[in-house]
Amino acid sequence: MLALIIGSLVLLAVTVLYFQTRQTSERESLQRQIEELKKKWEIATQNLRIEEGELETVMSAISDAILAVDKEGRPIFFNSKFELVFGQGKLPKFLRLREIFGDPQIIQAFEIALREGRNSTSHSLKFTSIAGQDRYFNLSVSPLSRSGLVIYGALGIFHDVTELKTAEQMRIDFVANVSHELRTPLTSIKGYTETLLEDFQKDPENLKEESTQEFLVKISRNVARLMNLVGDLLDLSSIESNEVFHKEFVSTEDMMNRVGRSMDEKFRKKNQSLDWTCHQKEVWADPNRLEQVLINLVDNAHKYTPEGGGVWVSWEREGQSVVLKVKDTGVGIPAEHHSRLFERFYRVDKARSREQGGTGLGLSIVKHIVQKHDGTVSVQSAPREGSTFICRFPLK
Ligand code: ADP
Repeated sequence: MLALIIGSLVLLAVTVLYFQTRQTSERESLQRQIEELKKKWEIATQNLRIEEGELETVMSAISDAILAVDKEGRPIFFNSKFELVFGQGKLPKFLRLREIFGDPQIIQAFEIALREGRNSTSHSLKFTSIAGQDRYFNLSVSPLSRSGLVIYGALGIFHDVTELKTAEQMRIDFVANVSHELRTPLTSIKGYTETLLEDFQKDPENLKEESTQEFLVKISRNVARLMNLVGDLLDLSSIESNEVFHKEFVSTEDMMNRVGRSMDEKFRKKNQSLDWTCHQKEVWADPNRLEQVLINLVDNAHKYTPEGGGVWVSWEREGQSVVLKVKDTGVGIPAEHHSRLFERFYRVDKARSREQGGTGLGLSIVKHIVQKHDGTVSVQSAPREGSTFICRFPLK
């Protein structure tokens, strides 16, 4: 009996021990599995973070603005360019399409993708920023769907075409301006030659010398104007295309002597003075193009300064720049014109410019030449207080 009891107790102890051992090894294996899962989860999270970071870098490197919205038109995602252009740098995610865009065409493009599941493309959509700046975009919107079936949002890509549009408008304006500028002297030449021809055909013996000469002077003046215009246009086109500038150290004194000599008669005729100081002795520039800058600026100073006035040219060194200043005691320029002065054909007083034989291209040529030297040009002026044109050239 005792043996039976002892036997049973041993069996019980062995069974308990067996189950305990089994539970421990199961717990251990479970723990191991949990550890492995944890590791896998950590690696997956890390990979996801890397991918997210990469995606964000790619998205912010894309120059187009990108916006993804959900079915209700709430942003799910937008890149930094989108936030910059459409949200002035800060765009709350709770806004809806209608609160971001005023243009119904943009909303409609997204609705087509969201409701009808179709792609849509719109061209030259205008967006006016809070600062009042207009920008133009080509927009393409595509639906976002799960397994190609359930649409859960739409993705819009805004491609900025403002520069293209501005360039296109500039080209249209330029052609219109050139045609207009050419037409005026051509109409005069046509009128005078026809009158001369008629007079000659009617009575060749009796052609009045005085009026013939007067007409010929007018024709010649208009031809000169046309020649100036065509010359300036060719110059502009050459500077703007990839003309190579041959830079060297140019002596400012030699250049001033040359320009002074070539302008001497003009200045004497109007009883004007032309003086210069060359504290900076040399400038790194293309000599021919630099002379053109000087002639244009000094000639303008002479044209827009009344009889008896004065013009000063100075060459100074300021930090890492060589600074050229052309100052006059002329009519001056009201502040509202300063920003547009360097545009092609922009004139403050059209009649005065024409009367002086101006083409309206001189300052535009100056700006392009200075910019091709990596320099800048600006103006300081007020009505009846004269003007100072300032060009800054980098030291070599
Ligand atoms: P333009 O051939 O008409 O002189 P520019 O491009 O050289 O053309 O100059 C553009 C306009 O800027 C001129 O029509 C004139 O109204 C103004 N301007 C230029 N220089 C001066 C100046 N020194 N003083 C006053 N106005 C000036």
